Amino acid sequence: MNIYDNVKKMLAEIPDNITVIAAAKTRNIDEVKESIDAGISHIGENYVQELEYIAKGIGDYREKVTMHVIGHLQSNKINKALEFCDMIQTIDSIKRARKVNKRVPKFQEQPVPVLIEVNISDEDNKHGVRPDFDEIQSIARVITEMEHIRLEGLMTLGPFGKTAEELRPYFRQMKGYYDQLMELDLPNTDIKTLSMGMSESYKVAIEEGATMVRLGRILYGERD
Ligand SMILES: *Cc1c(COP(=O)(O)O)cnc(C)c1O
Repeated sequence: MNIYDNVKKMLAEIPDNITVIAAAKTRNIDEVKESIDAGISHIGENYVQELEYIAKGIGDYREKVTMHVIGHLQSNKINKALEFCDMIQTIDSIKRARKVNKRVPKFQEQPVPVLIEVNISDEDNKHGVRPDFDEIQSIARVITEMEHIRLEGLMTLGPFGKTAEELRPYFRQMKGYYDQLMELDLPNTDIKTLSMGMSESYKVAIEEGATMVRLGRILYGERD
């Protein structure tokens, strides 16, 4: 099947209340455009360089899509990210939140929606906040005081090399943090996004409460 058909099939299968992000790393302009033609309205990029390449390269299509930073955001890439994205899913410290907040006005008029990335499996080689609600909460509270970013929820990658069923308890734990975050009812936030689940795990993630899934290979095919 081609990208167009894959996207159509996935969008038909996934309930309307779940946002599908096309994880477009390594894909070219034509591939991304084809997915947008088939109905994709959210694109996620891991690298700011690719974000820029796609955002510029798709031309008029840019207005039809929301672009998300879904990879680790290095400090020296924040400006470029803000120039080309609409949302940042990988806030993993108070320091990073502060840096992003400070630079937003140069690039965007409205507050930028952000998610806190949680390192749910607590692995050394992964970015994200430790899986501890007190830590998540303390970052969330600091973000509420920032004028130029607005907290909308949580994101996780989950451990690699696990089956979907093995990921279920991690997704469940994320949902627990997400519910707790919502219960805090913090001012100046709009908690509505729990971003988790990829090609191999999206079904389980949705069962466990994901509101947003990030799909790469199942839409675009295997990466080289
Ligand atoms: C690559 C990637 C995805 C999608 O992974 P697939 O297995 O190709 O569906 C989702 N989220 C992030 C952060 C990624 O880097």
